[in-house]
This record gives sequence, structure tokens and C-alpha cells, in this order.
Amino acid sequence: MNKLIILALVACTFSGSVVYSQKTMDHKTKVIAHRGAWKNTNVPENSIAALKEAIKLKCYGSEFDVHMSADSVLYVNHDHDLRGTNIETHGKETLNELKLSNGEPLPTLESYLKAGKKQKTTRLVLEIKASKQSKEHSLALARKCVEMVEKLKVKDITDYISFDYDVCLLVKKMSPDSEVLYLTGDKSPEVIKASGLDGVDYHYSIFKKNPTWVQDFKKLGLTTNAWTVNDEETMSDLIAQGIDYITTNEPERLINLLK
Ligand code: MG
Repeated sequence: MNKLIILALVACTFSGSVVYSQKTMDHKTKVIAHRGAWKNTNVPENSIAALKEAIKLKCYGSEFDVHMSADSVLYVNHDHDLRGTNIETHGKETLNELKLSNGEPLPTLESYLKAGKKQKTTRLVLEIKASKQSKEHSLALARKCVEMVEKLKVKDITDYISFDYDVCLLVKKMSPDSEVLYLTGDKSPEVIKASGLDGVDYHYSIFKKNPTWVQDFKKLGLTTNAWTVNDEETMSDLIAQGIDYITTNEPERLINLLK
């Protein structure tokens, strides 16, 4: 009898471990192109051309950064300025004249989302930039981003990220079905779970400093993403930990590594 119980326990343990390892094997880290796929394609970062390159590569997602002008128009750009013209302190008459290095106009969020809407394979990972003007500016930008995404009917392919915790909470409140990830790296899995956000998109050094966090977030049902990972060693380490997404300037390298 005792032998039978032991055998049954061993079988349960064994089948459990088989299920677990099968799950681990089924899990595949997904590729997010950081500011589009620009580095190996010779197009400017955050351009519509870079978004199209990320779509061509069939990246799971393509990330981009959004600011709001002084007259409340939304533009896609990483820095607060484009060659010295600050987006937050200028209006559309000035900003619409600005060109990226490939001749493309500085993209408005509207033009960018309309380009992204032509397909369904690559998700639009919208970073709401924290304002240098005021918290009110950041929150107004967040509201306008959610409204624009809904107006253009791209909600089903859009995710949100921000370094500003209040912005993340506001977006989650306005759009509960959307995935909203926090970027700063200063909040624990328990705090993020309690906040109602969907997870985090932290610098990879945060996951290095907290080696149990990828699993800790996952156990709480939260999403994990790491930025900006360009070397194969860090990519492989995060993939082995079962991270959900890796954000990279080298999407081609990560795609090859995942093959
Ligand atoms: Mg960004």
C-alpha cells in the first residue's frame, strides 16, 4: 500500500514537472522594435518608415514616443525637441514644417496610427512621454492619446507604456481593456499588482538586480518586458527566464535568436 502511494506521488510529481516544462517550452518571448526598426534599415527612429520596417519584419510590436504641442496636437518623436525645436512649447504651424532626415514630416500621432491601422500583425506600443512642462501637460497628453486611439479604432492593436506612474493609472482607468505597462523600474511586483496595471516594461538592469522578478511578476499574472536589449547574452538570459517581451534596437538579431 505504502509503495503504491509513493508510486502515485512520484507519478504526480513527474507529470506535474512534464506539464511545467511543456508550458515553459510553449512560452515564446516576443519581439518589440524600439522606436520602430530603424537601426539596420537606414530610416530615422520613430518615423512611419521605421514602423513599416518593423511590420515587414513581423515584429510582435513596434514602440514609439508621443509628445503634445503647445496647441494640443500629438507628435511622434523621442526627444522633447527635433533639432532644437521643442515640441511642447511650439504649435502645429511650426511643427508641421519639420522634416525627419528621410524627408518624412515629423509624424503626428494621427498619421502614425493611420499607418499602423493598415495591418493587424504588429502591435502599436505607444509611449506617453512625461512632460517637462507640468504634470497637467502629461495627463492631458495621456487623455488625448486614449481619445485618438479610440477615435481611429486602433484600440485592439495598441498597448500603452509610460515612465509616469500617474499617467499609467489614468490610461488604465480610461481604457481598462488596454494593456498598460509601467517603465520606471521602482515598483515591486506586489505594488504593480495592487495598482491594477497589467505589468512592467523595465530596463534590463532592474531584472538583473532582482533575479526573481520575471517569475514573481508572472506568478501574479503580470506582463514583463525589458528595454533596450541589444546584445545576445542579455537577450538569451531574459528568454531563459521566460520574459514575455524584449524591446530592442536589433529586432533582426532577436528574431534570429528566437528561431
Ligand atoms: Mg520610448
